[in-house]
Amino acid sequence: MRKHAPKAERSLRTDRLDADLVVVGGGMAGVCCAITAARAGVRVVLVQDRPVLGGNASSEVRLWVLGATAHMGNNNRWAREGGVLDELLVENLWRNPEGSPVIFDTILLERVVAETNVTLLLNTAVQEVRKQGDRIASVAAFCSQNSIRYELHAPLFCDASGDGIVGYLAGAPFRMGAEKADEFGEKFAPDPAEYGELLGHSIYFYSKDTGKPVTFVPPSYALKDIEAIPRFRQFNAQSHGCRLWWIEWGGRLDTVHDTEKIKWELWKVVYGVWNYIKNSGRFPEAANLTLEWVGLIPGKRESRRFEGPYMLIQQDIIEQRRHADVVAHGGWSIDLHPSDGIYSPKPGCSQWHSRGVYGIPYRCLYSRSVPNLFLAGRIISASHVAFGSTRVMATCAAAAQAVGMAASLCRRDGVLPAAISEPGRISRLQTALIESGQHIPGVQPGPTGLEASARVTASSSLKLAGLPADGPLILLTSSFAQMIPVPTGPVPKMTVYVHADRATTLRMELRETERPGNHVPDRTLAVREVPVPYGQNVPVRLDFGVSVASPRYVCLCAMKNPALALHGSEMRLTGVLALRHRYTQQPPGDIGVDTVEIWCPDRRPGGHNVALELDPALDVFGPENVINGIARPTVMPNAWVADPADPKPSLTLTWDTPQDISRIVLEFDTDFDHPMESVQYGHPERAIPFCVKRCRVLDEQGRVIWEQSDNHQTRNVLALATPLRTAKLTIELLETHGKTAPALFGVRCFGVAA
Ligand SMILES: Cc1cc2nc3c(=O)[nH]c(=O)nc-3n(C[C@H](O)[C@H](O)[C@H](O)COP(=O)(O)OP(=O)(O)OC[C@H]3O[C@@H](n4cnc5c(N)ncnc54)[C@H](O)[C@@H]3O)c2cc1C
Repeated sequence: MRKHAPKAERSLRTDRLDADLVVVGGGMAGVCCAITAARAGVRVVLVQDRPVLGGNASSEVRLWVLGATAHMGNNNRWAREGGVLDELLVENLWRNPEGSPVIFDTILLERVVAETNVTLLLNTAVQEVRKQGDRIASVAAFCSQNSIRYELHAPLFCDASGDGIVGYLAGAPFRMGAEKADEFGEKFAPDPAEYGELLGHSIYFYSKDTGKPVTFVPPSYALKDIEAIPRFRQFNAQSHGCRLWWIEWGGRLDTVHDTEKIKWELWKVVYGVWNYIKNSGRFPEAANLTLEWVGLIPGKRESRRFEGPYMLIQQDIIEQRRHADVVAHGGWSIDLHPSDGIYSPKPGCSQWHSRGVYGIPYRCLYSRSVPNLFLAGRIISASHVAFGSTRVMATCAAAAQAVGMAASLCRRDGVLPAAISEPGRISRLQTALIESGQHIPGVQPGPTGLEASARVTASSSLKLAGLPADGPLILLTSSFAQMIPVPTGPVPKMTVYVHADRATTLRMELRETERPGNHVPDRTLAVREVPVPYGQNVPVRLDFGVSVASPRYVCLCAMKNPALALHGSEMRLTGVLALRHRYTQQPPGDIGVDTVEIWCPDRRPGGHNVALELDPALDVFGPENVINGIARPTVMPNAWVADPADPKPSLTLTWDTPQDISRIVLEFDTDFDHPMESVQYGHPERAIPFCVKRCRVLDEQGRVIWEQSDNHQTRNVLALATPLRTAKLTIELLETHGKTAPALFGVRCFGVAA
């Protein structure tokens, strides 16, 4: 036993930790920054004031992680963010396709504690910043669970705290509220009085069917007058969780210091809504439902935004402006909400899409005045309007991965964040990111490792002569488009099979995208009006007589005609997608947003390709694609796809002289078009059908140096304890998860020094 005599006062135990990088805030941005940095050799302290990681994606708040894929509801194809975020979402799909928020917590915790370079401090809130000159020297934090005060010292800090606690205390310039339209020429800038300047917080609830009647006695603070909510008629017994994102309030208040007040109002609304569902008599189907969970922490959308050397604006997003220092991409709509939230008579959100994804410049990711402070998450340097898009978690995470990698370059070169903006260093950052799985639109460093000097051959390559007519009918109740990757030269002749309820005219349009890299079929190359008789399986041959000057996707569009259907195919293929015209975005007046058709795929098990014959067959899936440095479809599929009839598909890299290889990276197809919502949504598959499940790597003697029997991940990294000396590597793809033709996006080989 220890006895402690009375004392005048005591002070907390204080532990000092030293690191290369202190990351404050363990939301998706902080987590992805910390893991990326740690894997690049940076010693990281990650400080999170709550018991689990994930921020708004954690089981405490329960938002689904989204980014450029936007639930597959926009024109961004194959746009899911890569790198660590992709690994986390793919793992979550594998373990948790039903979307339990608690399981997602465990994955984040597991992946962070697996990194030996990360020291994780949970339940630890940063409260103080110490500076030396203009730089941050240390931050102080307190853990309420172990009663320890921490002093965290590092040459570099990353503020990923959502409200920007570090930047605020360090005196970094920030903004809160909305810029006026004339500051940056942003036509969508809201009218502060009429629409408000800040997005509010939200609290969700989950309900559960108990199988027997359940009563509900509301707390005294529950909202009584449910008709104070203009959209109260939209409440129903089925909606819960993220689908109630519009239970939002607080945008007219100080969303930092008034958070507790906002939380109480949201609790009042949530319990009032549940009381209405249970006790108003309007929802008899809710008799057996109980309230399983109510958020204890509000999800915060917006507070401070910090100023970097560059501020992202509306035009960067809508016009997809190119920046030499692009390091990540976004693609969510510009999504602003009325500040009065649930009490506003206006729609809960106003969302406007660009034609494709946009780039996020590195200069948005560090403070313009505190030289050793990186910015990550929703606080990055963006105007209020641009923040409306950058704020979603996968976009936050992708930019934060760039911060993590930039920190490793700062450490290696002994420089501060601004120095990484210099041309030589920014290209090194872009290359390092791409090597780690990040997708950066418009940046294509090509092969960066030993694979650059290899000859690449394959046992077979798919020559796509068509897609078999073994699938369901594709009704032309809306216009349909088949994306087809074509090489330079004449577009092949095509045959589709049509079912007609009556004699009518089929209008086929060959379209492409106006801007390379986008995927919206917004430019018509040729039109054919084909008379179709009543009948089944009527072949329609199409020769558009069009040539293309460079490889690209064209879209074979069958325009809406309810009397018609096309025969579909069960065949699914890497880099080949079918789209539906969902609607046309038509902005009201000049708000700086384009009128654009929105074409999206249906989710599996729907979303069938059209049955098709192609003459000549497409030869675009060759083995050379695996070393072009792009690991997803962009203007072309960028994949080697084996002939489906190949009994033993394999790809071989051969060098003139033996190479010493210490690391091999294989990049598989986990369908970058799939958004992989992390919670609640539910997914039909645990593993993506295109993904290689079993594979082997062999050296020049035919020895198996690596074997994988149950892969579901995008990237497989083979770190060889002893470097392998070989002049030949063979990669055998033995099985995919979906019986699709095996495909490989990339092979990267690194030498001993890498
Ligand atoms: C209701 C709602 C719906 C949304 N819908 C979506 C959606 O569908 N999909 C999507 O992707 N995004 C959505 N968003 C946006 C998204 O959730 C946020 O913009 C995003 O979470 C910001 O990421 P972040 O990492 O910057 O912040 P956060 O996720 O808030 O993470 C910051 C973390 O830092 C911690 N922290 C704060 N202060 C300290 C401190 N002093 N010391 C230590 N740690 C600290 C916090 O506890 C938190 O865990 C929504 C937001 C809300 C509120």
